[in-house]
Amino acid sequence: MKAIRLHGARDLRLEELPEHPAPNAGEALIQVRAVGICGSDLHMYQDGRIGDTAFTSPLIIGHEFMGEVIAVGNDARDGNQQPLQPGQRVAVDPQTPCYHCEACEQGHPNLCLNHTFAGVFPDNGALQERMIVRARNCFPLPDSISDAGGALLEPLGIALHSLNLSKVGLAHSAAVIGCGPVGLLIIRLLKLAGASPIYAFDCFPWRVEKALELGADQAWVVGEHDAVKQVMDATGGRGVDVAFEAAWADKTVQQAADMARYGGRVILVGIPGDDNLQLQHSTARRKGLTLKLVRRMKHTYARTIHMAAKGMVDLDALVSHTVSLDETAAAFERNIAYEPGVQKMVVKM
Ligand SMILES: [Zn+2]
Ligand SMILES: [Zn+2]
Repeated sequence: MKAIRLHGARDLRLEELPEHPAPNAGEALIQVRAVGICGSDLHMYQDGRIGDTAFTSPLIIGHEFMGEVIAVGNDARDGNQQPLQPGQRVAVDPQTPCYHCEACEQGHPNLCLNHTFAGVFPDNGALQERMIVRARNCFPLPDSISDAGGALLEPLGIALHSLNLSKVGLAHSAAVIGCGPVGLLIIRLLKLAGASPIYAFDCFPWRVEKALELGADQAWVVGEHDAVKQVMDATGGRGVDVAFEAAWADKTVQQAADMARYGGRVILVGIPGDDNLQLQHSTARRKGLTLKLVRRMKHTYARTIHMAAKGMVDLDALVSHTVSLDETAAAFERNIAYEPGVQKMVVKM
């Protein structure tokens, strides 16, 4: 079977790997059909690491994915505790928690101390034709959700978890810095949740346009505009109830804190390249800000599947490019070069 493996920084190779054995109890063998390319994949690709997690042998990356079940082991029950069947199309939660540690027992499987994660060393991800997954991580998809849409339930889950942490409510004001796929999905969910007004920022005009389409009331290209000044002017100097940092967490963290109101919340979604959080202490302290860091997601699949199936969120509209497995390495290069128009690339097999 074909797979794409990362051998080092900017070194992705299309390779022939042995087929997987039959699935064990509680497992499923799936034919991978769609994989989204995520910002964290790009970090891994560019630097050969993410935060302090490096890899020491070739790694298959890719954690936003869906596929079709080919075979199941004994007692294969899906994420809804229903029997998983060959032929079903499923979205797959990339994280497998232990379900027993303190974090798991307290209802935070996303913080599990003993978890594995598809595409994070040493566990292989989804850029392979076939893959063994835990049945419990599989969530059957209705026909109304496309293959690409199924893969993008993962970033939608991140956006939903971010929204949950923000505790945003009706007519709360919000700002989103960074209009990549997750930032855009946050904007869409803010709109659905009744937040207003919603402000958005990005470095690229095509993303700013998309932000307006998805529900931002005002959106600006940073560089041409000072993000903090725009929000302060627009809110009469008050700032927003909630500021989301969904860029690469460098100076944007400070901007998010600067544009939040006194007593406001700052939700940090982005992952910094240098593994450092830069924030002026006095700003955060004097404002009494609540900072929440987003660690993956939890309990989101039922809700995201419902939203996608009902058309509350149009995941297909987020996909700017569809590529084949053979074109994946080139797609990563186009992504890190910020080729105009690149929003979300999906690898289809
Ligand atoms: Zn991701
Ligand atoms: Zn655990």
